[in-house]
Amino acid sequence: MKEEEPASDERLVALRSRLEAARDLSTERIATEIREVGFRCLRCGECCRGEDNSVTVFPSEIRRIVCKTGKSWLEVVEPPQLGEWDSKGNFHTLEWRLRKEGPGCRYYSDCRCSIYPDRPLLCRTYPFYLEDGDLRVSECRGLGGAIEHRAALRLASVIKKRYLTEIEESIELVRRYRDFERGRPSPEGEGVCIVHDSEGEHPIGWNRIPDRRRRCLLGD
Ligand code: SF4
Repeated sequence: MKEEEPASDERLVALRSRLEAARDLSTERIATEIREVGFRCLRCGECCRGEDNSVTVFPSEIRRIVCKTGKSWLEVVEPPQLGEWDSKGNFHTLEWRLRKEGPGCRYYSDCRCSIYPDRPLLCRTYPFYLEDGDLRVSECRGLGGAIEHRAALRLASVIKKRYLTEIEESIELVRRYRDFERGRPSPEGEGVCIVHDSEGEHPIGWNRIPDRRRRCLLGD
């Protein structure tokens, strides 16, 4: 049987208590764990180029990239593929992903990240992240490499910052989220795509979504 979703008030209470616990996390402990795992970035670019590349990016990060690159919001990001249809033929989805070009990130070119100083927290912390306060590790060729204590501490503090930001963003998302009546897919694209994020709802006409992603969502 499907587990019932907790009401938004309960989710907020749980998220706020997770945020409290996250603030107390020790960066020393995280750094020690990073050193036990070992890591050295080999600059192979595999995390930027591969099919699995999918970078979740927060509104404040998008604004910074928009500002630095002079591109529009929808030139920088796109809605993710997973979502649900409402009874009016709109497609609802959560949060934004950096736009891709081919299989990989559109900002990876000439073997480098073209927005390196402004890259999202997810890129800064890869292959590490925190889940329920525990350090987790994604696949990466650089694992096992030597990392000195100060570098591990710096990385630990960005990992913690990312974790705090993720929880804060979730709190705002839950606070602003308005539920909707579920409906059937509308492959003719009658409605719009609605992205829910920490700042509210963003309706986007299908003609403003990159072809590749639109075809994917509408099943063209
Ligand atoms: S933003 Fe930069 S670091 Fe992040 S996936 Fe794209 S190219 Fe890689």
